[in-house]
Amino acid sequence: MGTYLQDHPPRQTQFRARRARVRGVIVVHSAESAPDLAGGDGGAEAVAEFIRGRSDYGSYHDLCDSDSAVDLVPYELAAFGDGTGSNEWALHLSAATQAHRWPDLPEQWVDGCLRQMAKRAARMARWIEATAGITVPARRITRAQSEAGVPGFISHGDRDPGRRSDPGPAFPWDRFLAYYAAEMEEDDMATPEVLAQLKTIEGYAEAAATAAQRTFAEQRAIRKGTTRYRNEERAKVRQALASLRKRATQDQADEILADLAVLESAVAADEAEPGDA
Ligand SMILES: [Zn+2]
Repeated sequence: MGTYLQDHPPRQTQFRARRARVRGVIVVHSAESAPDLAGGDGGAEAVAEFIRGRSDYGSYHDLCDSDSAVDLVPYELAAFGDGTGSNEWALHLSAATQAHRWPDLPEQWVDGCLRQMAKRAARMARWIEATAGITVPARRITRAQSEAGVPGFISHGDRDPGRRSDPGPAFPWDRFLAYYAAEMEEDDMATPEVLAQLKTIEGYAEAAATAAQRTFAEQRAIRKGTTRYRNEERAKVRQALASLRKRATQDQADEILADLAVLESAVAADEAEPGDA
């Protein structure tokens, strides 16, 4: 299974192989679609379907609404997000709303969308780091900086001020970048040292469980051994008594039988001892 536009071939080509090396630049857009404010948010899905069917160029890598995100184009390939040349080396991230809507959108929608966008931005940044060895800091860059390969985030409006203004002057950049930084920080906490410590702690827990199990098994073995020993001793005594009975005269037998009674009651008393439960 590929991305949405791989699985649903678009009417018009909407991606192609990159013709330049990837830079640490993420271009932020809004899709200029009406936000879906009723019930489950189908905004990103609707824009994906629109892009599949459009007859002009226009696509992104990832598309977010307030409760989900759609993978449109693989990061390895160029999406057609910008007409000023960044497609070859940038990644395009879009929100399923209109540039002018941010001030009047419900807070819950804005927050949900920014969190989805931050998650996708972090995923893009991890890919850039793995592919190009470039870290994308939580900052906005200018068009000149993006052209010079300075890593960061730029609005489509800043890339193409003559034709575009998205994601709009009221896009909450500070909050988006803070959420992005938090996503990246969470990843950074899973360092090899922390993972090694976790493994050690897991090792301790496992060793403790094994020791507890062994102790339990040993106790059971000791209890079993005690029972076997007592049964063996009891059998020996009975055997000795039986052979005595055979050899003895009647008088001796009477005397011995009296002793036997004492012995047997001693055995019975021994048997009655607790500790073999
Ligand atoms: Zn745009």
